[in-house]
Amino acid sequence: MSIEAALAIDLGGSELRAALVDRDGKILAFAVVPTQAQAGPDVVIGQIEALAATVHAEAPGLSILGVGVGAPGPLDPLAGIAVGPPTLAGWQDVPLADILERRLGLPVRLENDANAAALGEWRFGAGHGARSLVFVTVSTGIGGGVVADGRILHGRRGLAAEIGHMTITNEGERCVCGVVGCFEAIASGTALGRRADAATSPLDGSTLRRLSANAEVTGRHVVEAARLQDDLAVALLEEEARWLGVGFTNLLHLYSPDVLVVGGGIANGLDLMAPVIGATIQQRAMRAYRDVPVVQAQLGRHAGLVGAASLVLFDDLGTLAAPMPVGPSTYPDTRRDAAGQSRLTSRT
Ligand SMILES: [Zn+2]
Repeated sequence: MSIEAALAIDLGGSELRAALVDRDGKILAFAVVPTQAQAGPDVVIGQIEALAATVHAEAPGLSILGVGVGAPGPLDPLAGIAVGPPTLAGWQDVPLADILERRLGLPVRLENDANAAALGEWRFGAGHGARSLVFVTVSTGIGGGVVADGRILHGRRGLAAEIGHMTITNEGERCVCGVVGCFEAIASGTALGRRADAATSPLDGSTLRRLSANAEVTGRHVVEAARLQDDLAVALLEEEARWLGVGFTNLLHLYSPDVLVVGGGIANGLDLMAPVIGATIQQRAMRAYRDVPVVQAQLGRHAGLVGAASLVLFDDLGTLAAPMPVGPSTYPDTRRDAAGQSRLTSRT
């Protein structure tokens, strides 16, 4: 019998990636091309078809159960429609799942890319075995997804858990969404880089500018310099850690996860930030929420791919949340038979 696998597609604004993934989350074949993001949906869908053929050729003979697609939001995961991702030109209300089902001849499931990454870490990574988790990615922006009681939290129109745009202050730089005070505007890698950039200047001899070759300083440079115990970088990263601690405290109070998983480029500095993040949570969270582990993501850039595959490889409700059987037998203890006895007791 051939090995069962899923075709996973990660449709990003800059990279389009495809993989064949087995039930253990193992990547059996992988291919990547630059997304022709400005060329419109027809061209990009053609790219997806070509990439699918590439990975099939790389790992032939598998039994492909279906296609899981992670794509930028906003999208409707139930209807399989890309509603209008800002990073892809011309994608207004594209029924991507239907189109790909016709072109590839396989069932297709579509999910928000951040939710797909959360699913990946939950199924195969740092959140494996948890019943509830919050996944936060801290890089250019801040995004994430929530697994609550064994299933991804979608909310109205699939728009739940827009973590980067929760308000955590009333000052600072304006967010890309247009308002002041978003978590993303103050604690993303971009925000950290901007603070580091403002605190230094080209050719000032600082560690940060040496690491950036006197170009713009990024969040990654701050993490790198803090590892070299550069005082300025350590102070900048402590400020970053305090803001992350504030945001994480909100997430603990809102979702009460078993574990909070942090991914994205800035998560490479999580070990350096952990003491201040931990202290901030101890200070701000109510007692019952303080012992939740905050851990680094394990799957790196493949989290979204294996998460998209898991949409096909597993029931989306998750093995931990098998739906209750529908019908009269659902609540046997509340129903009574003709003799007036509870069925539950009469059965035993
Ligand atoms: Zn915002």
